[in-house]
Amino acid sequence: MDAFKALWITKEEGAKKPNPAEWKDITIDDLSEGDVVVRVTHSTVNYKDGLAMAGNPGVLRKFPMVPGIDVIGEVVSSQSPDFKEGDAIIMNGFGVGEVHTGAYAKYARLKSEWLIKRPVGLSPARAAAIGTAGYTAMLCVMALERYGITPSHGPVAVSGAAGGVGSVAVSLLSKLGFHTIAITGRESETEFLKSLGAAEVLPRAEFSEAGRPFGKERWAGAVDVAGSHTLANLLAQTKYGGAVAACGLAQGADLPTTVMPFILRGVSLLGVDSVQAPIALRQEAYDRLLADLDMDKLDALSTTCKLDDVPEKTSAILKGEIRGRVIVEID
Ligand code: NDP
Repeated sequence: MDAFKALWITKEEGAKKPNPAEWKDITIDDLSEGDVVVRVTHSTVNYKDGLAMAGNPGVLRKFPMVPGIDVIGEVVSSQSPDFKEGDAIIMNGFGVGEVHTGAYAKYARLKSEWLIKRPVGLSPARAAAIGTAGYTAMLCVMALERYGITPSHGPVAVSGAAGGVGSVAVSLLSKLGFHTIAITGRESETEFLKSLGAAEVLPRAEFSEAGRPFGKERWAGAVDVAGSHTLANLLAQTKYGGAVAACGLAQGADLPTTVMPFILRGVSLLGVDSVQAPIALRQEAYDRLLADLDMDKLDALSTTCKLDDVPEKTSAILKGEIRGRVIVEID
């Protein structure tokens, strides 16, 4: 197989930070070990890809590395009985693009146990539009449902609503019949969020600073991508018996709260991880996305770029400048 173009990140022995990502012609032998080789047709830009491209040591833990945590493509060779040449696959997470070479290259070599078959009826571009962010939004919604929250219990709030996880969460929750409250720092995205189904749009500033440990009861549930004061304020304003699904740290990894919402209102904090989620849960999430995500809304919240544009887009996502989801066309 000929050499192919990849984003490539190296780090010198003993250096604190890796070198900036560069374009390099690599071969299959430069990729991490795996039993399936995939021609990558699409990837995406997630917040974590932004952190990886910026050299964040919490994300990049092995070098040299090809970043890119979402692989959508076709199997070109397989040593696994579960996959054969031509199979259409989706792979989200599992440390790919962090400790195992990832998606920002024409080929990826992956472990078969990380792959799911792309569902019939889901195009590769839409699978990329969903990506880790969209599948995590579904995991958050499923966590609230598993806890027993239904539209009859009251509104559900979503922080970082104009971002990737947030915009898919708003679309899903509104389609499921929830009175969905979108929280955003971008007032200019109010109409966009309403077009996705948000019944109300609140300013992020209301939640960004330390608030009262125990506030007025406003929602039965919430999906939080921000952490820090935002998560503390969401918990403090959750109704008796409600729950908040927490998946992100866009504001910060801290959680400056008290036990009050937990011990006086029976509020629960539901942790959501997409990276190591078992395959059965992923399959369930994708089945649910196919059933419950309005594909017109998914198209409306997505934009498309080329592999060459990834450095610019990953830098923009860290500045909170990306609306919705970005599809990367690779091959
Ligand atoms: P995006 O950048 O697309 O969305 C994040 C959004 O958060 C921004 O668009 C912005 O929305 C909001 N935001 C930005 N800065 C702040 C701030 N200081 N305070 C409050 N809100 C802020 O990222 P993703 O949707 O891809 O990821 C969101 C978070 O979820 C990240 O922290 C990511 O690491 C995490 N994540 C975790 C996963 C898991 O498995 N647990 C999987 C996927 C993502 P707005 O402009 O509307 O305010």
